[in-house]
Amino acid sequence: MTFKGGIHPKYNKITADKKIEKANLPKKIILPLSQHVGAPCEPIVNIGDYVKTGQKIAETQAFVSAPIHSSISGTVSSIENLPHPITGKPVNSVIIESDEKDEKIEMQKREYENLPADELKSIIKDFGIVGLGGAAFPTHVKLSPPQEKPIDTLIINGAECEPFLTTDHRLMLERTDDLIAGIRIIRKVLGVKSVFIGIEDNKHDAIKILKEKTIGQNIKVIPLHTKYPQGGEKTLIYAITKRKVPAGGLPMDIGCVVQNIGTAIAVYEAVALSKPLYERVITITGKVNNPKNLLVRNGAIIKDLIEQAGSYKGEPKKIIMGGPMMGFALPADDLPIIKGTSGLTIFNKDDIDEKRSTIECIRCGKCIQDCPMQLNPSLIAKYAENERIDLAENMYAMDCFECGCCAFNCPTHIPLVHWIRYAKSQILKNRAKAKDKK
Ligand code: SF4
Ligand code: SF4
Repeated sequence: MTFKGGIHPKYNKITADKKIEKANLPKKIILPLSQHVGAPCEPIVNIGDYVKTGQKIAETQAFVSAPIHSSISGTVSSIENLPHPITGKPVNSVIIESDEKDEKIEMQKREYENLPADELKSIIKDFGIVGLGGAAFPTHVKLSPPQEKPIDTLIINGAECEPFLTTDHRLMLERTDDLIAGIRIIRKVLGVKSVFIGIEDNKHDAIKILKEKTIGQNIKVIPLHTKYPQGGEKTLIYAITKRKVPAGGLPMDIGCVVQNIGTAIAVYEAVALSKPLYERVITITGKVNNPKNLLVRNGAIIKDLIEQAGSYKGEPKKIIMGGPMMGFALPADDLPIIKGTSGLTIFNKDDIDEKRSTIECIRCGKCIQDCPMQLNPSLIAKYAENERIDLAENMYAMDCFECGCCAFNCPTHIPLVHWIRYAKSQILKNRAKAKDKK
């Protein structure tokens, strides 16, 4: 149960046994209005407005988007352009100061068993659910494949192959029943029979509890070989079904939908409890004094959360939003966490290998061997460096999902992912220009 290529980094799951704790209520939150794939939201509140926890504060009519809800009660103190935590680019953001009461909107339990699929989907949309694995793709869109792409398989991604992160692992152990209820809702929306939960075989306890609790529910728990990036959508689908997503294609092209563990629980909370997505579990790990898994409010400020994990242990050199393989290094710690934040990984100087490439590719072929997409990373990077974006595109640069396996073992430390990312951004620009011309 695995895929071709991939690597074995040190897993460093130092928070695997740490139960999820509730973070302190933030005194202030910053909500960037673009924290999902798709159209940014527009604010529907004004400066000075009082808002409750769970109240919708921004939305858009675009289909590929997700509304944003306040995660505290208090007053809107500002609406202004602030740096986005991942891109660093200014993005319209709503700032709310807490009244420390955490007064919530009415959230009623719902009898949902007999609701039709369309109604379930519209609840999922209205309550702002997006993929919590990191990509933050709006969930209602993923659950609305076109008619010509029938879905027969739902895969729940419990691999959590990213080193250091343990949120999905803890959720599988601590929220098992809610997870299964969420999976059943998603299965109903998609109208599929085959459901798999893929879990790396280093999480024996999660495999055991889910196997026990899914007996008789037509949900198969699949232990997967522990190898990075086992949790990539395409690698996961291949490991479980042996189906291959075609180049440039999507899982729906081969009848599959993949959903993350946290997303399935968020779906359950929205549908069964009328709870919008205003909090999530993240792992705070690496060089902090008390690494932990925390249930945090959306928009909470990173440095406040790090304090709750016992503060920095030594002098931080890198703060990564996410894990070390696919996360993004942050320029500062006064930025907010967003819906797609799965963790904060802190590294000191000694943890970072700052070797820079000084020599050319020696054609050892390691990057090709390790690439789970069977690309030629060395060649794509060379084309990108020489501005031959057309050739990089012909070599399927867009199929790279930036897992970092190629750069991990490169003996000459060529920044392969940097160049491939550059090629992808140029390809997208060229495609947008061509579309405008039409
Ligand atoms: S080329 Fe892309 S998909 Fe392949 S190993 Fe490198 S980063 Fe991963
Ligand atoms: S791993 Fe590095 S040195 Fe080896 S072929 Fe790839 S780019 Fe060249």
